[in-house]
Amino acid sequence: MNLRRAIVLAVWWTIPVLGWAQQPSEMKPVTDRLAASIYNGPSMTTLGDLADGIGGRLTGSPAYVRSTEWAAAKFRSYGIENVRLEPFTIPAGWQRGTASGAMLAPLSRPLYVASLGWAPSTPPGGVRGPVVIVADLSRDALKSREAELHGKIVFLDTSKIFAEGYGKALPKLEAAWVAFQKGGVLAAIMSDREKSNVLNAHDGVWGAKLLPLPVAEVGMEDAKLIQRELERGPVTVQLTIENKTTGATTVNNVVAEIRGSERPDEWILIGAHLDSWDFGTGAQDNGTGAISVLEIGRALMALGKAPRRSVRLALWGGEEQGLLGSYAYTQAHQSELNDCIAVLNTDNGAGHPKGWKVEGREDLRKAMQPWSDGLLKDMNGGELSMNTTYDTDHGPFVLQGIPALDLWVDVSHYMEIHHKSSDTLDKVDGLDFKAGEAIVAVTAYAIAQSETPIAPHIDHLAVGEILRNAKLDEMLEYVGVWKR
Ligand SMILES: [Zn+2]
Repeated sequence: MNLRRAIVLAVWWTIPVLGWAQQPSEMKPVTDRLAASIYNGPSMTTLGDLADGIGGRLTGSPAYVRSTEWAAAKFRSYGIENVRLEPFTIPAGWQRGTASGAMLAPLSRPLYVASLGWAPSTPPGGVRGPVVIVADLSRDALKSREAELHGKIVFLDTSKIFAEGYGKALPKLEAAWVAFQKGGVLAAIMSDREKSNVLNAHDGVWGAKLLPLPVAEVGMEDAKLIQRELERGPVTVQLTIENKTTGATTVNNVVAEIRGSERPDEWILIGAHLDSWDFGTGAQDNGTGAISVLEIGRALMALGKAPRRSVRLALWGGEEQGLLGSYAYTQAHQSELNDCIAVLNTDNGAGHPKGWKVEGREDLRKAMQPWSDGLLKDMNGGELSMNTTYDTDHGPFVLQGIPALDLWVDVSHYMEIHHKSSDTLDKVDGLDFKAGEAIVAVTAYAIAQSETPIAPHIDHLAVGEILRNAKLDEMLEYVGVWKR
Protein backbone atom coordinates (compact mmCIF):
# COMPACT_ATOMS: atom_id res chain seq x y z
CA MET A 1 0.00 0.00 0.00
CA ASN A 2 1.55 3.29 -1.00
CA LEU A 3 1.47 6.38 1.19
CA ARG A 4 -1.12 8.20 -0.89
CA ARG A 5 -3.48 5.23 -0.75
CA ALA A 6 -3.01 4.97 3.02
CA ILE A 7 -3.95 8.64 3.41
CA VAL A 8 -7.01 8.20 1.22
CA LEU A 9 -8.19 5.23 3.30
CA ALA A 10 -7.49 7.02 6.57
CA VAL A 11 -9.60 9.95 5.44
CA TRP A 12 -12.34 7.58 4.31
CA TRP A 13 -12.53 5.84 7.70
CA THR A 14 -12.76 9.08 9.64
CA ILE A 15 -15.77 10.52 7.83
CA PRO A 16 -19.23 9.45 8.98
CA VAL A 17 -21.27 6.93 7.03
CA LEU A 18 -23.26 8.91 4.50
CA GLY A 19 -26.49 6.96 4.72
CA TRP A 20 -29.18 8.69 2.66
CA ALA A 21 -27.48 12.02 2.59
CA GLN A 22 -29.17 14.35 0.16
CA GLN A 23 -28.34 17.84 1.21
CA PRO A 24 -25.40 19.37 -0.65
CA SER A 25 -23.70 20.06 2.69
CA GLU A 26 -23.97 16.40 3.69
CA MET A 27 -22.37 15.26 0.45
CA LYS A 28 -19.60 17.82 0.61
CA PRO A 29 -17.02 15.74 2.48
CA VAL A 30 -17.02 13.22 -0.38
CA THR A 31 -17.30 15.72 -3.24
CA ASP A 32 -14.40 17.69 -1.72
CA ARG A 33 -12.27 14.55 -1.88
CA LEU A 34 -13.33 13.99 -5.47
CA ALA A 35 -12.43 17.55 -6.45
CA ALA A 36 -9.10 17.35 -4.62
CA SER A 37 -8.30 14.11 -6.42
CA ILE A 38 -8.91 15.84 -9.77
CA TYR A 39 -6.88 18.96 -8.87
CA ASN A 40 -3.97 16.82 -7.68
CA GLY A 41 -4.35 14.33 -10.52
CA PRO A 42 -2.54 13.81 -13.83
CA SER A 43 -5.01 15.48 -16.25
CA MET A 44 -2.39 17.45 -18.16
CA THR A 45 0.00 14.51 -18.47
CA THR A 46 -2.80 12.24 -19.66
CA LEU A 47 -3.97 14.91 -22.12
CA GLY A 48 -0.41 15.12 -23.45
CA ASP A 49 -0.38 11.35 -23.96
CA LEU A 50 -3.56 11.64 -26.04
CA ALA A 51 -2.99 14.89 -27.95
CA ASP A 52 0.77 14.62 -28.53
CA GLY A 53 1.19 10.86 -28.17
CA ILE A 54 -1.65 9.84 -30.49
CA GLY A 55 -2.47 13.14 -32.21
CA GLY A 56 -5.56 14.10 -34.22
CA ARG A 57 -8.20 11.33 -34.14
CA LEU A 58 -10.42 11.48 -37.18
CA THR A 59 -13.35 9.08 -36.79
CA GLY A 60 -12.45 5.64 -38.14
CA SER A 61 -8.79 6.50 -38.79
CA PRO A 62 -5.90 4.38 -37.45
CA ALA A 63 -5.18 7.13 -34.89
CA TYR A 64 -8.80 6.97 -33.69
CA VAL A 65 -8.53 3.20 -33.31
CA ARG A 66 -5.32 3.65 -31.29
CA SER A 67 -7.04 6.20 -29.05
CA THR A 68 -9.89 3.79 -28.25
CA GLU A 69 -7.46 1.04 -27.26
CA TRP A 70 -5.43 3.51 -25.20
CA ALA A 71 -8.54 4.82 -23.42
CA ALA A 72 -9.85 1.32 -22.65
CA ALA A 73 -6.46 0.42 -21.15
CA LYS A 74 -6.52 3.64 -19.08
CA PHE A 75 -9.95 2.80 -17.62
CA ARG A 76 -8.70 -0.68 -16.72
CA SER A 77 -5.56 0.76 -15.12
CA TYR A 78 -7.83 2.64 -12.68
CA GLY A 79 -9.34 -0.68 -11.57
CA ILE A 80 -12.55 -0.42 -13.60
CA GLU A 81 -13.40 -3.94 -14.70
CA ASN A 82 -16.36 -3.40 -16.97
CA VAL A 83 -14.82 -1.74 -20.05
CA ARG A 84 -16.17 -2.37 -23.54
CA LEU A 85 -15.63 -1.23 -27.10
CA GLU A 86 -19.12 -0.79 -28.55
CA PRO A 87 -19.22 -0.70 -32.36
CA PHE A 88 -21.34 1.27 -34.78
CA THR A 89 -20.94 1.71 -38.52
CA ILE A 90 -20.34 4.84 -40.59
CA PRO A 91 -21.13 4.91 -44.34
CA ALA A 92 -17.53 5.70 -45.35
CA GLY A 93 -14.06 5.95 -43.87
CA TRP A 94 -11.95 8.95 -44.89
CA GLN A 95 -8.39 10.11 -44.34
CA ARG A 96 -6.88 13.38 -45.46
CA GLY A 97 -4.05 13.29 -47.93
CA THR A 98 -2.73 16.36 -49.73
CA ALA A 99 -4.49 19.31 -51.33
CA SER A 100 -3.14 22.14 -53.43
CA GLY A 101 -4.74 24.88 -55.45
CA ALA A 102 -3.75 27.86 -57.52
CA MET A 103 -5.29 30.70 -59.45
CA LEU A 104 -3.94 30.39 -62.99
CA ALA A 105 -5.62 33.47 -64.47
CA PRO A 106 -5.91 36.42 -64.42
CA LEU A 107 -3.26 36.30 -61.66
CA SER A 108 -0.86 33.46 -61.16
CA ARG A 109 -0.67 32.62 -57.46
CA PRO A 110 -1.08 29.73 -55.05
CA LEU A 111 -4.26 29.52 -52.97
CA TYR A 112 -4.74 28.50 -49.36
CA VAL A 113 -6.89 25.39 -49.78
CA ALA A 114 -7.82 22.21 -47.93
CA SER A 115 -10.09 19.34 -48.84
CA LEU A 116 -13.46 19.22 -47.16
CA GLY A 117 -13.81 16.20 -44.91
CA TRP A 118 -15.22 13.14 -46.70
CA ALA A 119 -14.47 14.64 -50.13
CA PRO A 120 -13.05 12.31 -52.80
CA SER A 121 -9.80 12.92 -54.66
CA THR A 122 -9.63 14.78 -57.94
CA PRO A 123 -8.47 12.71 -60.92
CA PRO A 124 -4.65 12.31 -60.90
CA GLY A 125 -3.08 15.60 -61.95
CA GLY A 126 -6.03 17.54 -60.61
CA VAL A 127 -8.71 19.60 -62.33
CA ARG A 128 -8.47 23.03 -63.90
CA GLY A 129 -11.29 25.17 -65.17
CA PRO A 130 -13.17 28.45 -65.14
CA VAL A 131 -14.82 29.44 -61.87
CA VAL A 132 -18.57 30.11 -61.66
CA ILE A 133 -20.32 31.51 -58.60
CA VAL A 134 -23.43 29.74 -57.32
CA ALA A 135 -25.44 31.49 -54.59
CA ASP A 136 -28.85 29.87 -55.01
CA LEU A 137 -29.02 26.10 -54.43
CA SER A 138 -32.73 25.69 -55.09
CA ARG A 139 -33.49 22.88 -57.52
CA ASP A 140 -34.95 25.18 -60.17
CA ALA A 141 -31.99 27.55 -60.04
CA LEU A 142 -29.50 24.71 -60.47
CA LYS A 143 -31.56 23.13 -63.25
CA SER A 144 -31.61 26.38 -65.22
CA ARG A 145 -27.81 26.65 -64.98
CA GLU A 146 -26.97 23.01 -65.74
CA ALA A 147 -25.34 23.66 -69.12
CA GLU A 148 -23.43 26.69 -67.82
CA LEU A 149 -21.97 24.76 -64.86
CA HIS A 150 -20.77 21.76 -66.92
CA GLY A 151 -16.96 21.51 -66.95
CA LYS A 152 -16.58 24.37 -64.46
CA ILE A 153 -15.34 24.77 -60.92
CA VAL A 154 -18.28 25.96 -58.82
CA PHE A 155 -17.62 28.62 -56.20
CA LEU A 156 -20.33 28.32 -53.53
CA ASP A 157 -21.26 31.70 -52.09
CA THR A 158 -21.79 30.41 -48.55
CA SER A 159 -22.62 33.85 -47.15
CA LYS A 160 -25.83 33.69 -49.18
CA ILE A 161 -26.38 29.91 -49.00
CA PHE A 162 -26.21 29.76 -45.19
CA ALA A 163 -28.07 33.06 -44.65
CA GLU A 164 -31.27 31.10 -43.96
CA GLY A 165 -29.50 29.01 -41.29
CA TYR A 166 -27.63 25.71 -41.35
CA GLY A 167 -30.76 23.61 -40.79
CA LYS A 168 -32.54 24.96 -43.85
CA ALA A 169 -29.42 25.09 -46.03
CA LEU A 170 -28.18 21.54 -45.33
CA PRO A 171 -30.82 19.64 -47.35
CA LYS A 172 -30.25 21.92 -50.36
CA LEU A 173 -26.50 21.61 -50.04
CA GLU A 174 -26.59 17.80 -49.91
CA ALA A 175 -28.87 17.74 -52.98
CA ALA A 176 -26.62 20.22 -54.79
CA TRP A 177 -23.53 18.03 -54.41
CA VAL A 178 -25.37 15.26 -56.27
CA ALA A 179 -26.66 17.65 -58.94
CA PHE A 180 -23.15 19.07 -59.51
CA GLN A 181 -21.66 15.62 -59.91
CA LYS A 182 -24.38 14.52 -62.34
CA GLY A 183 -24.08 17.78 -64.28
CA GLY A 184 -20.34 17.40 -64.93
CA VAL A 185 -19.06 20.04 -62.48
CA LEU A 186 -15.30 19.45 -62.06
CA ALA A 187 -15.10 20.41 -58.39
CA ALA A 188 -16.51 22.87 -55.90
CA ILE A 189 -14.81 25.43 -53.68
CA MET A 190 -16.15 27.44 -50.79
CA SER A 191 -14.79 30.21 -48.63
CA ASP A 192 -13.60 29.81 -45.08
CA ARG A 193 -14.75 32.51 -42.68
CA GLU A 194 -11.63 33.77 -40.92
CA LYS A 195 -9.01 36.33 -41.72
CA SER A 196 -5.41 35.51 -42.64
CA ASN A 197 -6.64 32.61 -44.79
CA VAL A 198 -6.96 30.46 -41.66
CA LEU A 199 -8.59 27.13 -42.48
CA ASN A 200 -11.22 25.40 -40.31
CA ALA A 201 -11.70 21.67 -40.81
CA HIS A 202 -15.28 20.74 -41.69
CA ASP A 203 -17.34 18.57 -43.99
CA GLY A 204 -20.15 19.20 -46.42
CA VAL A 205 -22.68 16.54 -45.42
CA TRP A 206 -24.17 15.02 -42.27
CA GLY A 207 -23.24 11.52 -41.20
CA ALA A 208 -19.82 10.58 -42.65
CA LYS A 209 -21.14 10.05 -46.18
CA LEU A 210 -18.70 10.41 -49.03
CA LEU A 211 -19.22 13.60 -51.07
CA PRO A 212 -20.02 12.88 -54.73
CA LEU A 213 -17.38 15.27 -56.08
CA PRO A 214 -14.11 16.90 -54.93
CA VAL A 215 -14.78 19.94 -52.73
CA ALA A 216 -12.23 22.28 -51.18
CA GLU A 217 -12.37 25.19 -48.83
CA VAL A 218 -10.38 28.29 -49.73
CA GLY A 219 -8.95 30.81 -47.26
CA MET A 220 -11.17 33.84 -46.79
CA GLU A 221 -8.90 36.45 -48.38
CA ASP A 222 -8.13 34.16 -51.32
CA ALA A 223 -11.85 33.53 -51.78
CA LYS A 224 -12.64 37.24 -51.71
CA LEU A 225 -9.91 37.81 -54.29
CA ILE A 226 -11.47 35.20 -56.57
CA GLN A 227 -14.84 36.94 -56.21
CA ARG A 228 -13.37 40.37 -57.03
CA GLU A 229 -11.46 39.03 -60.02
CA LEU A 230 -14.69 37.47 -61.31
CA GLU A 231 -16.21 40.95 -61.41
CA ARG A 232 -13.35 41.96 -63.74
CA GLY A 233 -13.47 38.89 -65.98
CA PRO A 234 -12.94 35.13 -66.19
CA VAL A 235 -10.95 33.34 -63.47
CA THR A 236 -9.26 29.97 -63.92
CA VAL A 237 -8.36 27.78 -60.96
CA GLN A 238 -6.42 24.57 -60.59
CA LEU A 239 -7.17 22.12 -57.81
CA THR A 240 -5.54 18.84 -56.82
CA ILE A 241 -6.86 16.73 -53.94
CA GLU A 242 -5.66 13.32 -52.88
CA ASN A 243 -7.53 11.61 -50.02
CA LYS A 244 -7.93 8.02 -48.90
CA THR A 245 -11.47 6.71 -48.74
CA THR A 246 -12.89 3.34 -47.74
CA GLY A 247 -16.36 1.87 -47.69
CA ALA A 248 -18.55 1.35 -44.66
CA THR A 249 -16.34 1.39 -41.58
CA THR A 250 -16.80 0.09 -38.03
CA VAL A 251 -16.09 2.66 -35.32
CA ASN A 252 -15.98 1.91 -31.60
CA ASN A 253 -17.28 3.93 -28.68
CA VAL A 254 -15.43 3.16 -25.43
CA VAL A 255 -17.78 2.60 -22.48
CA ALA A 256 -16.73 1.78 -18.92
CA GLU A 257 -19.05 1.22 -15.99
CA ILE A 258 -18.61 1.60 -12.24
CA ARG A 259 -21.43 -0.42 -10.72
CA GLY A 260 -23.56 1.41 -8.19
CA SER A 261 -23.25 0.35 -4.56
CA GLU A 262 -27.01 0.34 -3.84
CA ARG A 263 -29.02 0.71 -7.05
CA PRO A 264 -26.76 -0.66 -9.76
CA ASP A 265 -29.54 -0.93 -12.35
CA GLU A 266 -30.05 2.83 -12.31
CA TRP A 267 -27.29 4.73 -14.05
CA ILE A 268 -25.96 8.08 -15.01
CA LEU A 269 -23.67 8.65 -17.97
CA ILE A 270 -20.71 10.99 -18.24
CA GLY A 271 -19.66 11.37 -21.86
CA ALA A 272 -17.38 13.23 -24.24
CA HIS A 273 -16.25 12.59 -27.78
CA LEU A 274 -12.85 11.05 -28.35
CA ASP A 275 -12.70 11.72 -32.09
CA SER A 276 -11.38 15.01 -33.40
CA TRP A 277 -10.65 16.88 -36.58
CA ASP A 278 -7.16 16.48 -37.91
CA PHE A 279 -5.66 19.96 -38.51
CA GLY A 280 -4.62 20.18 -34.85
CA THR A 281 -4.35 17.36 -32.33
CA GLY A 282 -7.83 17.71 -30.85
CA ALA A 283 -6.49 18.98 -27.52
CA GLN A 284 -9.63 20.94 -26.59
CA ASP A 285 -12.03 19.51 -29.15
CA ASN A 286 -12.32 17.30 -27.41
CA GLY A 287 -9.19 15.95 -25.71
CA THR A 288 -9.97 17.87 -22.54
CA GLY A 289 -13.52 16.46 -22.49
CA ALA A 290 -12.28 12.91 -23.07
CA ILE A 291 -9.63 13.22 -20.37
CA SER A 292 -12.32 14.55 -17.99
CA VAL A 293 -14.26 11.32 -18.45
CA LEU A 294 -11.13 9.24 -17.77
CA GLU A 295 -10.11 11.35 -14.80
CA ILE A 296 -13.55 11.17 -13.21
CA GLY A 297 -13.38 7.40 -13.55
CA ARG A 298 -10.02 7.42 -11.80
CA ALA A 299 -11.17 9.77 -9.05
CA LEU A 300 -14.40 7.83 -8.41
CA MET A 301 -12.45 4.59 -8.09
CA ALA A 302 -10.01 6.28 -5.71
CA LEU A 303 -12.94 7.13 -3.38
CA GLY A 304 -13.04 3.45 -2.48
CA LYS A 305 -16.84 3.25 -2.60
CA ALA A 306 -19.08 3.70 -5.61
CA PRO A 307 -22.06 6.05 -5.44
CA ARG A 308 -25.51 4.47 -5.08
CA ARG A 309 -26.23 4.38 -8.80
CA SER A 310 -23.99 3.07 -11.55
CA VAL A 311 -21.81 5.53 -13.43
CA ARG A 312 -21.17 4.89 -17.11
CA LEU A 313 -18.18 6.63 -18.64
CA ALA A 314 -18.47 7.01 -22.40
CA LEU A 315 -16.01 8.17 -25.05
CA TRP A 316 -17.77 8.64 -28.36
CA GLY A 317 -16.64 8.40 -31.96
CA GLY A 318 -18.18 10.20 -34.92
CA GLU A 319 -19.19 13.35 -33.04
CA GLU A 320 -17.69 15.66 -35.64
CA GLN A 321 -19.68 13.95 -38.39
CA GLY A 322 -23.04 14.35 -36.64
CA LEU A 323 -22.99 12.97 -33.06
CA LEU A 324 -22.93 9.49 -34.59
CA GLY A 325 -21.47 7.48 -31.69
CA SER A 326 -23.74 8.87 -28.98
CA TYR A 327 -26.77 8.54 -31.25
CA ALA A 328 -25.84 4.90 -31.98
CA TYR A 329 -25.59 4.30 -28.23
CA THR A 330 -29.13 5.60 -27.60
CA GLN A 331 -30.38 3.24 -30.30
CA ALA A 332 -28.44 0.17 -29.12
CA HIS A 333 -29.44 0.71 -25.46
CA GLN A 334 -33.13 1.59 -25.97
CA SER A 335 -34.29 -1.12 -23.56
CA GLU A 336 -32.40 0.34 -20.59
CA LEU A 337 -32.78 4.08 -21.24
CA ASN A 338 -35.65 4.17 -18.75
CA ASP A 339 -33.10 3.56 -16.02
CA CYS A 340 -30.82 6.37 -17.20
CA ILE A 341 -31.14 9.10 -14.57
CA ALA A 342 -29.06 11.79 -16.27
CA VAL A 343 -26.38 12.44 -18.88
CA LEU A 344 -23.48 14.84 -18.38
CA ASN A 345 -21.51 15.95 -21.42
CA THR A 346 -18.39 18.06 -21.82
CA ASP A 347 -17.27 19.43 -25.19
CA ASN A 348 -16.91 23.19 -25.20
CA GLY A 349 -13.17 23.47 -24.65
CA ALA A 350 -11.34 23.98 -21.37
CA GLY A 351 -12.17 27.66 -20.84
CA HIS A 352 -12.96 29.21 -17.47
CA PRO A 353 -15.99 27.25 -16.23
CA LYS A 354 -19.39 28.83 -15.59
CA GLY A 355 -21.74 25.93 -14.78
CA TRP A 356 -24.22 23.85 -16.73
CA LYS A 357 -26.50 24.18 -19.72
CA VAL A 358 -29.80 22.46 -18.91
CA GLU A 359 -30.93 22.24 -22.55
CA GLY A 360 -34.14 24.20 -22.33
CA ARG A 361 -35.62 22.39 -19.32
CA GLU A 362 -36.98 24.70 -16.64
CA ASP A 363 -37.70 21.74 -14.32
CA LEU A 364 -34.06 20.64 -14.60
CA ARG A 365 -32.84 24.17 -13.96
CA LYS A 366 -34.94 24.29 -10.77
CA ALA A 367 -33.76 20.83 -9.70
CA MET A 368 -30.12 21.79 -10.27
CA GLN A 369 -30.32 25.08 -8.38
CA PRO A 370 -29.66 23.66 -4.86
CA TRP A 371 -26.64 21.72 -6.14
CA SER A 372 -25.39 24.72 -8.08
CA ASP A 373 -25.70 26.91 -4.99
CA GLY A 374 -24.61 24.31 -2.44
CA LEU A 375 -21.74 22.55 -4.21
CA LEU A 376 -20.78 24.21 -7.48
CA LYS A 377 -20.87 27.95 -6.85
CA ASP A 378 -17.61 28.02 -4.91
CA MET A 379 -16.01 25.94 -7.68
CA ASN A 380 -16.89 28.63 -10.26
CA GLY A 381 -19.59 26.35 -11.67
CA GLY A 382 -22.81 27.64 -10.16
CA GLU A 383 -24.43 29.22 -13.22
CA LEU A 384 -27.23 27.57 -15.21
CA SER A 385 -28.10 28.28 -18.84
CA MET A 386 -31.39 27.48 -20.60
CA ASN A 387 -29.68 27.49 -24.02
CA THR A 388 -30.57 24.44 -26.16
CA THR A 389 -28.25 23.06 -28.85
CA TYR A 390 -27.80 19.87 -30.85
CA ASP A 391 -24.10 20.50 -31.32
CA THR A 392 -22.55 17.77 -29.21
CA ASP A 393 -23.26 14.41 -27.60
CA HIS A 394 -25.85 15.40 -25.00
CA GLY A 395 -28.16 15.87 -28.01
CA PRO A 396 -29.25 12.28 -28.72
CA PHE A 397 -30.11 11.85 -25.01
CA VAL A 398 -32.18 15.06 -25.03
CA LEU A 399 -34.20 13.49 -27.87
CA GLN A 400 -34.99 10.57 -25.53
CA GLY A 401 -36.37 12.91 -22.86
CA ILE A 402 -33.47 12.16 -20.48
CA PRO A 403 -32.24 14.99 -18.22
CA ALA A 404 -29.05 16.11 -19.97
CA LEU A 405 -26.43 18.62 -18.87
CA ASP A 406 -23.71 20.12 -21.03
CA LEU A 407 -20.75 21.74 -19.26
CA TRP A 408 -20.88 25.49 -19.79
CA VAL A 409 -17.53 27.27 -19.97
CA ASP A 410 -16.27 30.60 -21.26
CA VAL A 411 -15.86 30.11 -25.02
CA SER A 412 -14.51 33.55 -25.87
CA HIS A 413 -11.17 32.02 -26.89
CA TYR A 414 -12.51 28.66 -28.03
CA MET A 415 -13.18 29.77 -31.60
CA GLU A 416 -9.51 30.72 -31.93
CA ILE A 417 -8.65 27.01 -31.85
CA HIS A 418 -11.88 25.21 -32.77
CA HIS A 419 -11.22 22.77 -35.68
CA LYS A 420 -7.96 24.59 -36.48
CA SER A 421 -4.30 23.66 -36.56
CA SER A 422 -4.02 25.63 -33.31
CA ASP A 423 -6.07 23.10 -31.31
CA THR A 424 -2.98 21.85 -29.49
CA LEU A 425 -1.83 21.16 -25.94
CA ASP A 426 -0.07 24.51 -25.51
CA LYS A 427 -3.43 26.36 -25.55
CA VAL A 428 -4.83 24.43 -22.57
CA ASP A 429 -4.94 26.27 -19.24
CA GLY A 430 -4.44 23.49 -16.71
CA LEU A 431 -6.31 25.27 -13.92
CA ASP A 432 -9.42 26.09 -15.95
CA PHE A 433 -9.33 22.56 -17.35
CA LYS A 434 -9.22 20.95 -13.91
CA ALA A 435 -11.85 23.33 -12.54
CA GLY A 436 -14.21 22.15 -15.29
CA GLU A 437 -13.37 18.50 -14.64
CA ALA A 438 -14.00 18.90 -10.92
CA ILE A 439 -17.41 20.48 -11.60
CA VAL A 440 -18.40 17.51 -13.76
CA ALA A 441 -17.12 15.05 -11.14
CA VAL A 442 -18.95 16.68 -8.24
CA THR A 443 -22.20 17.07 -10.19
CA ALA A 444 -22.04 13.46 -11.36
CA TYR A 445 -21.48 12.20 -7.85
CA ALA A 446 -24.35 14.27 -6.44
CA ILE A 447 -26.78 12.98 -9.09
CA ALA A 448 -25.62 9.36 -8.79
CA GLN A 449 -25.78 9.47 -4.99
CA SER A 450 -28.94 11.50 -4.42
CA GLU A 451 -31.88 9.46 -3.16
CA THR A 452 -34.33 10.80 -5.73
CA PRO A 453 -33.65 11.22 -9.47
CA ILE A 454 -32.61 14.76 -10.39
CA ALA A 455 -35.61 15.20 -12.72
CA PRO A 456 -38.06 12.94 -14.56
CA HIS A 457 -37.85 11.89 -18.20
CA ILE A 458 -40.08 14.04 -20.39
CA ASP A 459 -42.28 12.71 -23.19
CA HIS A 460 -41.99 13.09 -26.96
CA LEU A 461 -44.34 16.07 -27.07
CA ALA A 462 -42.38 17.95 -24.43
CA VAL A 463 -39.07 17.23 -26.21
CA GLY A 464 -40.65 18.42 -29.45
CA GLU A 465 -41.58 21.72 -27.86
CA ILE A 466 -38.00 22.28 -26.67
CA LEU A 467 -36.66 21.49 -30.15
CA ARG A 468 -39.23 23.75 -31.80
CA ASN A 469 -38.36 26.62 -29.47
CA ALA A 470 -34.70 26.13 -30.34
CA LYS A 471 -35.57 25.89 -34.09
CA LEU A 472 -33.90 22.49 -34.28
CA ASP A 473 -36.83 20.20 -35.13
CA GLU A 474 -36.78 20.61 -38.91
CA MET A 475 -33.06 19.94 -39.23
CA LEU A 476 -33.19 16.92 -36.90
CA GLU A 477 -36.06 15.46 -38.86
CA TYR A 478 -34.08 15.92 -42.06
CA VAL A 479 -31.02 14.09 -40.73
CA GLY A 480 -33.27 11.26 -39.54
CA VAL A 481 -32.88 11.38 -35.77
CA TRP A 482 -36.25 12.94 -34.92
CA LYS A 483 -39.88 12.43 -35.98
CA ARG A 484 -42.42 15.11 -35.24
ZN1 LIG B 1 -16.33 18.76 -29.94
